[in-house]
Amino acid sequence: MLKLSPLLNGKPPKSKAESIGVENLIRAMLKKHRTPFMMIRRNILQRQYRRFRHCLPEVTPYYAIKANPHPGVIKEFVRLGAGFDVASGAELKTVLALGASANKVIFANTIKMPDDIILARRRGVRLMTFDNEPELYKLSEHYPRAHVLVRIKVENQGSIVQLSLKFGADPDQAFYLLRKAQALGLTPLGVSFHVGSQSTNVENYLQALEITAHIFKEAERSGMPLKVVDIGGGFPIQYFDNEIGVNFERMVRQIRKQIKLLFEKNVKFIAEPGRFLVGPAGVLVTQVIGRTFRNNKNYYYLNDGMYGDFSGMVFDHCKYEFKTLRRGQKFLSALAGPTCDSFDTLSLNEEIPELYVNDVIYVKNIGAYSSASAVANFNGFCPAKIVMV
Ligand SMILES: *Cc1c(COP(=O)(O)O)cnc(C)c1O
Repeated sequence: MLKLSPLLNGKPPKSKAESIGVENLIRAMLKKHRTPFMMIRRNILQRQYRRFRHCLPEVTPYYAIKANPHPGVIKEFVRLGAGFDVASGAELKTVLALGASANKVIFANTIKMPDDIILARRRGVRLMTFDNEPELYKLSEHYPRAHVLVRIKVENQGSIVQLSLKFGADPDQAFYLLRKAQALGLTPLGVSFHVGSQSTNVENYLQALEITAHIFKEAERSGMPLKVVDIGGGFPIQYFDNEIGVNFERMVRQIRKQIKLLFEKNVKFIAEPGRFLVGPAGVLVTQVIGRTFRNNKNYYYLNDGMYGDFSGMVFDHCKYEFKTLRRGQKFLSALAGPTCDSFDTLSLNEEIPELYVNDVIYVKNIGAYSSASAVANFNGFCPAKIVMV
């Protein structure tokens, strides 16, 4: 039973109250939609955006749409005034078609296809990242007026998803590369980095900012002052109700302090949050489509799985909290998706009440890196329909 703390004036704690709200919402949506469906809650998108702006007022967020490119999500962030981080010509077209302005888009893939560079030029998306010399030659050929940020390789310690294994120049080379950009007629604007995704270790940011400040000093001394720092994404979210160790507010307070300590006031800061802005807004609602008893436990088969909206368990190394609308004594159980592949097993040790066919299993905080990487039609099963609420 839930124990009420006297500090809460008899009200249930916030997470409990929120769960009740979510469950009422699920019950209402079940009357209108077939499962599986994913609700994206607009008020949570707004809350996360405001939280980011409030805690890091000097840093302009460019939403990284790879986390969830659903048009409803992009439109909401256009409405809120966010910028956008895109990695391909197709993503670039998507955000512009949905109302983003070209001067608030960063083409943040350090390896770009020539056609996509030409598209960026035609559409006026000027700001981009790079981390190698051949890319500079490509840019100078197809988009000589591009504004470039050199992406440096930084520590990703403690981040769940590593993002410096494949991209990022050696910081020692950063200044040389920016000089080279200038020599080729491009405009060198600054430095970008990415500390890895779901990065709970603030040291990664603090250290990356220190390295960046050194590059800024070197450039200043050499008469090529830089103006923009892109601190990337990576901001973590809480996946489990009782999880500890994720504290965005505390983390960004330290980041903000470091920015003030190391950089002049006229330096412009941007960030590329993906997960942080959209993850908490997503609630996936599935139903049990079959059950059996094997290996001494209940096996429940759901109508969404590893190939669908749980694809983040593979690509994003993500773990989720599976919740049920049914209450009661909990038993060790296994959960699996609908396809014929044994790999489509979601968990072998969930403590959940006994469930029946058609019962609901839902997962909160699943808005990022879920539907985005789901396969369209493997074995004839489709990912969840996305419903903006
Ligand atoms: C994936 C990615 C992001 C978003 O990262 P989150 O951890 O979701 O905030 C931002 N920038 C780049 C370059 C990325 O590859």
